[in-house]
Amino acid sequence: VKLSKATLQNLPKNVGVPGYSQSGLKAGIIHFGIGNFHRAHQAVYLDELFNAGTDHEWGLVGAGVLASDETMRQKLQAQDWLTTVVEQDSGHRTAHVTASMIDYLQPGDTANIIARLADPEIRIVSLTITEGGYFIDPASGVFNPQHPAIVSDAANIKDPSTVFGLILAGLMRRRDEGTAPFTVMSCDNIPGNGHVTCDAVSGLAAVIDPNLAQWVKDQVAFPNSMVDRITPATTDRERGLLATDFGVEDNWPVFCEPFKQWVLEDHFPAGRPALEKVGVTFVKDVAPYELMKIRILNGGHAAIAYPASLMDIHFVHEAMEEPLIRDFLTKLEREEIIPVLPPVPGTSFDAYFDLIVRRFSNPKIGDTIQRLCQDGSNRQPKFILPTTADRLKAGNGITGLSLVSALWCRFCAGTTDSGKPTNYLDASAERLKVEALKAKDDPKAFLAMTDIFGEVGTSPIFVESFSRILRILWDKGARETLTLYLADKL
Ligand code: NAD
Repeated sequence: VKLSKATLQNLPKNVGVPGYSQSGLKAGIIHFGIGNFHRAHQAVYLDELFNAGTDHEWGLVGAGVLASDETMRQKLQAQDWLTTVVEQDSGHRTAHVTASMIDYLQPGDTANIIARLADPEIRIVSLTITEGGYFIDPASGVFNPQHPAIVSDAANIKDPSTVFGLILAGLMRRRDEGTAPFTVMSCDNIPGNGHVTCDAVSGLAAVIDPNLAQWVKDQVAFPNSMVDRITPATTDRERGLLATDFGVEDNWPVFCEPFKQWVLEDHFPAGRPALEKVGVTFVKDVAPYELMKIRILNGGHAAIAYPASLMDIHFVHEAMEEPLIRDFLTKLEREEIIPVLPPVPGTSFDAYFDLIVRRFSNPKIGDTIQRLCQDGSNRQPKFILPTTADRLKAGNGITGLSLVSALWCRFCAGTTDSGKPTNYLDASAERLKVEALKAKDDPKAFLAMTDIFGEVGTSPIFVESFSRILRILWDKGARETLTLYLADKL
């Protein structure tokens, strides 16, 4: 059955459908970045809340600024903004249609997007625009007001082209019209995602007028959050599985694991949906939770991605079936990552890590090594290098972490150990390849990218360890290098 509002009641019985009427929802949230993660996370929590019969004034309206968003918009429009979410692990599989999204603003129709942002019924603007979308200089972690797109938006804030330009234009219109600001809620995997978003919006405002920047800082709320649910990209494989196993034809379904988590700072002056009713944890300070997640989970992903790729492994669960990789992950986490984490109320890091091993090993999720490999130039400085920096400061060993960096460098050279080309998705892919090839003879060349490595790249202890291990990787390959690491011989 082709998914649409008209066919919802004819879907096979094993497919869950919304228990509320989509047309009964009112717009309350505009979301930028309608990718897979949003539709497996925030949209699902809201769907559960709507199913519980409450908060129907918090319907989602999609928005985006990239050309590719228009393609996605058309795919969703053809099925009345509905999404089938399939949750799977070895013992569990469900398909459920969500209807929490009620509209998707045309990308590029700036006047309409700003008008909707100014609409008093919109009280939250949320984002999942990837780690790379925040105009942050990776090493310093500071917003870059000189980025050409930001300079251009500042000069022409009535017709902006970035997400932050649109948000600021919407806020300015609200201020002029006497409407209270909306809350800006980032759901991207960035430590202090609320602070980072505030830096971007107020940083852009500062280029226009320092008073405007101060007004943003004083009047707009940017709650930090920790979000979690492994959500791979959708391919024809997923579309096919949904059609054959559930009888649903969906242009763009989402496949994900059953686990999901959302820890959110309770700072919503304009109001918020009662998400605590569907399992969202509201806290005063999200920092310890997100540090735990970013370093143990995202750091774990960033650690296993490159050795798996160098060994020509396709899926994440296959990497976890390889004892060398599983044991590398465990040793790295137990010996180097977990010991430098500040405690999290009511949480055992060992139990959290055991759960992550089970989640990574989920054979049904179909998460790919290629997805984990991408965007390393943004992910390594956020997920790995801060742990390295903490350990260096404390005088602790960093062999495992420098192995992670060396594996990434070896991968960036563009071929696996068997000589297959790697298809690397990274905004800096070309530059990384040039530096990684130079690093084969001169490892320091890679660390000279100070925008990525920051001070870590100048630490003599790190430079020595990274250089030695990179030479071993080129010499003996990932398999033997991991074996040496596991035997404490690296
Ligand atoms: P996706 O590729 O499906 O979607 C990314 C979305 O971001 C798209 O709508 C795209 O248009 C938009 N985007 C990308 N770059 C942008 C830019 N520079 N400016 C504006 N919009 C931009 O990816 P996804 O799986 O939805 O993941 C998105 C983000 O969600 C991740 O980067 C991460 O921060 C967070 N996240 C993802 C997962 C996961 O497992 N996929 C888990 C937790 C958090």
